[in-house]
Amino acid sequence: MIDIPFLSLDYQHWQIKAELNAAFADVVGRGSFILGEEVSTFEKEFATYLGAGYCVAVGNGFDALYIALKVVGVGSGDEVIVPSHTCFATWQAVMHAGARPVPVEVDTNTFTLTPSSIEAVITPRTKAIVAVHLYGYPCAMDAIMAIARSKNLLVIEDNAQGHGARWKGKTTGSWGHINATSFYPTKNLGAMGDGGAITTQNADWANKARACRNYGALEKEKYDDEGINSRLDELQASFLRIKLKHLDEWNGLRKSTAKRYAYMLAGVGDVVLPFLGNNESEPVFHQFVIQTAYRDRLLKYLRDKGIGTAIHYPTPCHLQKACGKLEIVKGELPVAEKLSETILSLPIWPGLSAADVEIVAREIKSFFSSSYL
Ligand SMILES: *Cc1c(COP(=O)(O)O)cnc(C)c1O
Repeated sequence: MIDIPFLSLDYQHWQIKAELNAAFADVVGRGSFILGEEVSTFEKEFATYLGAGYCVAVGNGFDALYIALKVVGVGSGDEVIVPSHTCFATWQAVMHAGARPVPVEVDTNTFTLTPSSIEAVITPRTKAIVAVHLYGYPCAMDAIMAIARSKNLLVIEDNAQGHGARWKGKTTGSWGHINATSFYPTKNLGAMGDGGAITTQNADWANKARACRNYGALEKEKYDDEGINSRLDELQASFLRIKLKHLDEWNGLRKSTAKRYAYMLAGVGDVVLPFLGNNESEPVFHQFVIQTAYRDRLLKYLRDKGIGTAIHYPTPCHLQKACGKLEIVKGELPVAEKLSETILSLPIWPGLSAADVEIVAREIKSFFSSSYL
């Protein structure tokens, strides 16, 4: 019986178990759980890893996006350009900030928004662009920054799926005016609970974000701004510090898996393989997403064989009920709509063995040569 889960974190955690236990004991021993030295040290280490200037750690990726938008002044009446195909949190954060998400279709090879499509939707109300490095694929950041400069727009990177990715040699999360990320446990760099961070080269925005995550206070009991409560805690920061040291190695394992799938699945059925990167684009394979017209049947076939898969994401953002007020009707974003029907994410976690990757590929081949079609 095959038993290959879509995702397992066991390998990561087994590898660093002693360090995690020691970190837990240290934090408990110190008795400081909120905004202590683990958080400030992690902020420095993560900013250094990205080459991103300042880092402000917060409670989760949604809050990171929301705070980033607020800090740069995005609010009511503003339009924010977002990819049509992304995690719903991206759109939800824009709406929560009071602005209107304005979608542009993504490139189906890299799953990211294209600079040329951005220009077509800019209006006098456009204030910002959220560049999402979906599935670990870096957006074409130099071109996006150039458009933003010429049209006086702000760029916010959503780097939740792109930890360690590079565009033209420079890491994602270090390009935008202000950037947000998530450390949800399943991300390439994941906490053991919720977590997120904002990065920016702008000291003033970093200070504003620092205040915003703590009720608007930079100093104890001195509330200069409006704010929320969204703090990374000391335990999560200590775990993230340990995991950050392994991020490149774990991303390397993801890349080997991606190459192996691509090799084994070339020319199989109608499968469209994802982009593997090139000199400009160094993805980190947060997901390995194939496209096929037989998606639902393939998913069921693999599930029956004992192989887990997932769909990121089954409903396009604009067709979610929460977006009703945007009045974007079915048919308006055909690329996103088609992707939601054809995409399938295959298992790609660090620690997934080469033998298991070959089993997944073999079963996909057998599906396409069988009468299930
Ligand atoms: C996970 C994710 C988020 C939200 O992060 P949370 O920590 O779950 O709030 C936002 N954007 C993208 C692209 C994500 O993958």
